[in-house]
Amino acid sequence: MPWCDPCSLYHAPTALDDGACPDCGEAVSNGEHNGREHDERTVGQSAPWHFWIVVAALVAYIGWRIIDVVMRLL
Ligand SMILES: [Zn+2]
Repeated sequence: MPWCDPCSLYHAPTALDDGACPDCGEAVSNGEHNGREHDERTVGQSAPWHFWIVVAALVAYIGWRIIDVVMRLL
């Protein structure tokens, strides 16, 4: 849970303004010091890299299907 020292408040991870406190703008400490790998797996604020590969492949496939259908109709 992100902790802001100046405000003495906990903030929800989604309420943060780009990693800073939405109230005072100070950088907040994460409260976890177990390492980056642990944070990525538990917090999950950003999608993992393989998710975007799947999204890119899906977009490419759908785009190719649209071009394929259009070319058949012409
Ligand atoms: Zn604050």
